[in-house]
Amino acid sequence: MITYHCPVCNKVSRKGSLDLARHMLGRGDKVHRDWVNSKGFKFSEILAAQFSSFGGDSYKGLAAVLEKETRVEEADPIAGAPPPTAKAAPAKAPTHERETEGQEA
Ligand SMILES: [Zn+2]
Repeated sequence: MITYHCPVCNKVSRKGSLDLARHMLGRGDKVHRDWVNSKGFKFSEILAAQFSSFGGDSYKGLAAVLEKETRVEEADPIAGAPPPTAKAAPAKAPTHERETEGQEA
């Protein structure tokens, strides 16, 4: 399961980075504004874009950053952490990559 954690207040969104972007704009307090601005965006511009045309490019840009920076993979919300005895594969990795989860660049 993929979740997105607000880098400022740790609100967890399971809907996606766009939802988290909406959250950050919805909050609109200083800490959220500062975080957005620190990523090279202009909070006020994104906010304006949200009202004029929901899902504007700047809005998606913010979501893309959130996608990268706040995405957390949770293995299983019920099982919790695996038992410490369950040692996974040893450190030496096989030569072939095992990233077959359909991630496209
Ligand atoms: Zn937040």
